[in-house]
Amino acid sequence: MARKFFVGGNFKMNGTISSIKDIVQNLNKADLDPNTETVIAPPALYLLLVREHVKKEIGVAAQNVFDKANGAFTGEISASQLKDSNIDWAILGHSERRTILNESDETVASKTKFATENGVSVIWCCGESLEVREAGKTLEVIASQLAALKAKISDWSKIVIAYEPIWAIGTGKVASTEQAQEVHASIREWLSKNVSQSVADETRILYGGSVSEKNCKELSKEKDIDGFLVGGASLKPAFVDIINSKL
Ligand code: PGA
Repeated sequence: MARKFFVGGNFKMNGTISSIKDIVQNLNKADLDPNTETVIAPPALYLLLVREHVKKEIGVAAQNVFDKANGAFTGEISASQLKDSNIDWAILGHSERRTILNESDETVASKTKFATENGVSVIWCCGESLEVREAGKTLEVIASQLAALKAKISDWSKIVIAYEPIWAIGTGKVASTEQAQEVHASIREWLSKNVSQSVADETRILYGGSVSEKNCKELSKEKDIDGFLVGGASLKPAFVDIINSKL
């Protein structure tokens, strides 16, 4: 089965009602490659606004979701609340949540399990710090993040993996096509050895970290790069060019 190209826009904690309406309007009027799946992730406060206004071909993602059903969990959002609001996706395990909010591999895996079992698809993020890369331990760290996920997950059909080297996020320092392809291929190999060949063949692996309209085409040609998770550039009109990388 061919893997459909996938582009996610992670707005992070950015935007206002007015600026987010402008982004949505820009996407609504753009000609987007029908062979690319596009999902945007505004801050939680604006999820309903975006779902109401953005065209139905574009999916909407929360930037987090809790690993418990509804109840006494102040400040959290549940998978059933996302489903109730027609929000079909969540980003989990972003490095900013892992480092700033102290989310462990196990917490991220547990959230991913709960979300996918309750009908929310997940963009599951992994990636290494500069220190890890310089120590030559990139593939080891990614494998241990994957192993923590595998310990909790049996159904991989609702998971898209985003490889995001921390040193490339928001820095303007994009991974080279070779660096990205090497890690993507190793994630696919890990899936084939530790999960199954069909999961390895079917799971989309996105690259994230300073993706722009200038570097997306080159990266999109690599055989194991199935799309992007875009931060800063998803807030700009040029996001359309990244969605259309394959055209
Ligand atoms: P960036 O962020 O595109 O601004 O580097 C990517 C991300 O954090 O998902």
